[in-house]
Amino acid sequence: MNSAPLVELFSSIQGEGPHVGRRQAFLRFHGCNLSCAYCDTVEPVIPTHCRAEPEPGSGFFKPLQNPVSLAAVMELLTGWRDRCLGLHHSLSLTGGEPLLHRDTLLRWLPTLRSLFPIYLETNGTLPESLAAVVDDVDYISMDIKLPSASGSPPLWELHRNFLEVAIRRELFVKVVVGIDTPPEEIRTACLLVRDVEPSIPLILQPVTRNGVSTVPAQLLLRFQEQAARILTDVRVIPQTHVFLNLL
Ligand code: SF4
Repeated sequence: MNSAPLVELFSSIQGEGPHVGRRQAFLRFHGCNLSCAYCDTVEPVIPTHCRAEPEPGSGFFKPLQNPVSLAAVMELLTGWRDRCLGLHHSLSLTGGEPLLHRDTLLRWLPTLRSLFPIYLETNGTLPESLAAVVDDVDYISMDIKLPSASGSPPLWELHRNFLEVAIRRELFVKVVVGIDTPPEEIRTACLLVRDVEPSIPLILQPVTRNGVSTVPAQLLLRFQEQAARILTDVRVIPQTHVFLNLL
């Protein structure tokens, strides 16, 4: 487990959620246990090479043969940290689903965390894997998947179990909403969060296509009003990196 299938390693801004605009290092793992209708990231087969930016934010990449070793990742990230002191808020582990790589994370996280705080982006369906690594994670961006938008079967119980572990760290929940999202699904997601902790921030993120929200503004406001009757911190935040033309 000293090496893992990676897709890319790059530096950009966080485009989603309450940390939007912060500069982060992104480490994208290959593979996911779900297949959401709106997914734009999962590649069916492991790429032969991970593309990695030697200079953070340069947009130029060098290939690293997959699977990539922790030593190779650390060499690159240490260079970024030393050349750009204070630039990166954290290291975002993204995918795909990073928690599919639990054994790799168990080995890698203490070392990676010596460089940057760890920000985990997860679909919130692998509670046992989270429990194994949660002490080495600083921030958790957790999805709750609504069947209407994701096309997934209901995952409420997995999300509930996940939330009960994730609450130990700084946490927010992201819900992708579409034009066909029924109010009952918003309500179920909110009650699930409330049962764990009503002050957990809930982010309503409209499905975007070609950088534009597909959800009418008035509908987004109604979703927010509905959620705010149950939770204390409900925000509507679209994906911003897309219309900034960033990775
Ligand atoms: S959980 Fe995320 S990465 Fe996985 S299929 Fe859904 S959108 Fe794609």
